[in-house]
Amino acid sequence: MPDGLQERPAWGSADSFRLLAENAPDCIFRYRVQPDPGFDYVSPASTAMFGYTPEELYQDPTLVIAIVGEEYLADMNDFGHDPRLTEPRDVRVERKDGSVTWIEQRLTPVLAGEHLMAVEGIARDISERKRAEATMTHRALHDVLTELPNRNLMLDRLSQALARTARDDHGLVAVLMLDLDRFKLVNDTLGHQTGDELLIEVARRLAESLRPGDTVARLGGDEFVVICEGVHSAGHARVLAERVAAIVSGGYRVARTEIFTSASVGVALGRDGDTTEALLSDADAAMYLAKERGRGRVELFLPDLRTRAETRLAAEKALRAAVDHREFALVFQPVVDLEMGNVVSAEALIRWQPPGQETIPPADFIALAEDTGLIVPIGTWVLTDACAQLREWKDAFPRKPMTMSVNLSARQLTPDLLDTLVKVLAVNRLEPDSLTLEITESVLMEDTDSALENLLGLKALGVRLAIDDFGTGYSSLSYLKRFPIDVLKVDRAFVSGLGNDGDDAAIISGMLAMARGLRVEVVAEGVETAAQLGALRVLGCPFAQGYHFAKPLSPAEFDDLLAEGHRW
Ligand code: C2E
Ligand code: MG
Ligand code: MG
Repeated sequence: MPDGLQERPAWGSADSFRLLAENAPDCIFRYRVQPDPGFDYVSPASTAMFGYTPEELYQDPTLVIAIVGEEYLADMNDFGHDPRLTEPRDVRVERKDGSVTWIEQRLTPVLAGEHLMAVEGIARDISERKRAEATMTHRALHDVLTELPNRNLMLDRLSQALARTARDDHGLVAVLMLDLDRFKLVNDTLGHQTGDELLIEVARRLAESLRPGDTVARLGGDEFVVICEGVHSAGHARVLAERVAAIVSGGYRVARTEIFTSASVGVALGRDGDTTEALLSDADAAMYLAKERGRGRVELFLPDLRTRAETRLAAEKALRAAVDHREFALVFQPVVDLEMGNVVSAEALIRWQPPGQETIPPADFIALAEDTGLIVPIGTWVLTDACAQLREWKDAFPRKPMTMSVNLSARQLTPDLLDTLVKVLAVNRLEPDSLTLEITESVLMEDTDSALENLLGLKALGVRLAIDDFGTGYSSLSYLKRFPIDVLKVDRAFVSGLGNDGDDAAIISGMLAMARGLRVEVVAEGVETAAQLGALRVLGCPFAQGYHFAKPLSPAEFDDLLAEGHRW
């Protein structure tokens, strides 16, 4: 038999129970309420749990007040009558050294008739559990990457802030919706790791800049919300928002490179009675306006923005339905060979025809289609329809070498596009080089590396690539060498000045010289007058399109034009 056990008191004796209590990790005690308050017994676990030895507690019964606090003790006055008080309770306690911990307390009253004579109890250290709970709560309410409050906590703080405005001295609440400009570009070109580092740094700058009482939260992605209380006017809100925008904008040293970023900020003002959702969507609408107006800006929500946002939602719904019901049609504008004077190509231009309503031009819905991603199914339909049309013309006019141009949006430049093209070309038995895809300069500048990769993929298929609206974008001719371009479409802004503005002739002449050097074809857009046509011929421009030749035509009208064999 092991030594220790030989010395144990006989089981069932008072000493045997005392020994159990002395060795228990929980603190077991009996506190006398009457006649003179004090501990009858405290087990030695008190030393580890509260920092006070049993002897200290016997000597000074008021230490209990220091440990659990007066409020808790006041609560205990009803003990013995309120059955809830005998249930296990989590109690915050203060140790001798001032540190705070949590115990779970189970108490039993010792009554003499109505009178509470003493309290017997067990206290268990639950600081570990409390720590785990705190971590979980923190996680549920904070963003993992930046440690900022997340949407849930932000919503909670916002509704509290709104409620506080019910007191008149409290001013208004400003909600600042902040979105980094071109963050996607950072992510795509420098990698997610770098993007994350940038977000962490932005979060740090935001958090440091706050006034006491303000909240900054991350909603996800590159979207942050700042809640400011005590705002007294729209002007005040604007000043705050501009300060926040300035703090975020500028250079960041991340991943051993310097990144410059700016933020677009939308502001909405609210008070008691406004809902958090309405305020956030108002701030969001203002933020979109800031983006639309050129990024790096602050915009305030004005009530008409709400109708704008609603209009936008309605338009989005209508466009989705239009995709489902195929409410689109293509018209075709002829491209003329200026040397021979005949039609050699057609540019497919989309129209939206809602039943019973006026036709909607692309300028009024392509941007929405791009924002919503609907441009992908729409673009596929355009390619399919345009190629089918080209097949028809090739069959009907076998001796005319017709080609087709189709406009592409940046968002369509995905690997899926290649599959679509392969299929559409095969179905219509078309040589790849009878199809030209038009993209704008901005596509190349937005996202150069992946743009280049996608364009090389298209080139490998054998389709031709055109830069549309050339000269209106970044006008940096040097990058053209990097891209496998076949055609430059000179924007009509240059053509319209021909004949009266010497500069435009010089610019077009320069473009033509450069294009010859790069072995790139040139199409002049927007030729409206015979004078412009004459000037282009003098300059040696090989191709042109514009109202002077023909407006965009329905397929039947285009048939007639081809049948007629008109020359200019
Ligand atoms: P774009 O590709 O530069 O097309 C030329 C635009 O100029 C067409 O407008 C055309 O009708 C117009 N135009 C042609 N000749 C003249 C002229 O002599 N004078 C004037 N003032 N305008 C002329 P449209 O059809 O409204 O298309 C506007 C833009 O919408 C297009 O510009 C193109 O960027 C885009 N777009 C059209 N169809 C599609 C499409 O299927 N997909 C995509 N992603 N974009 C498209
Ligand atoms: Mg075009
Ligand atoms: Mg154009």
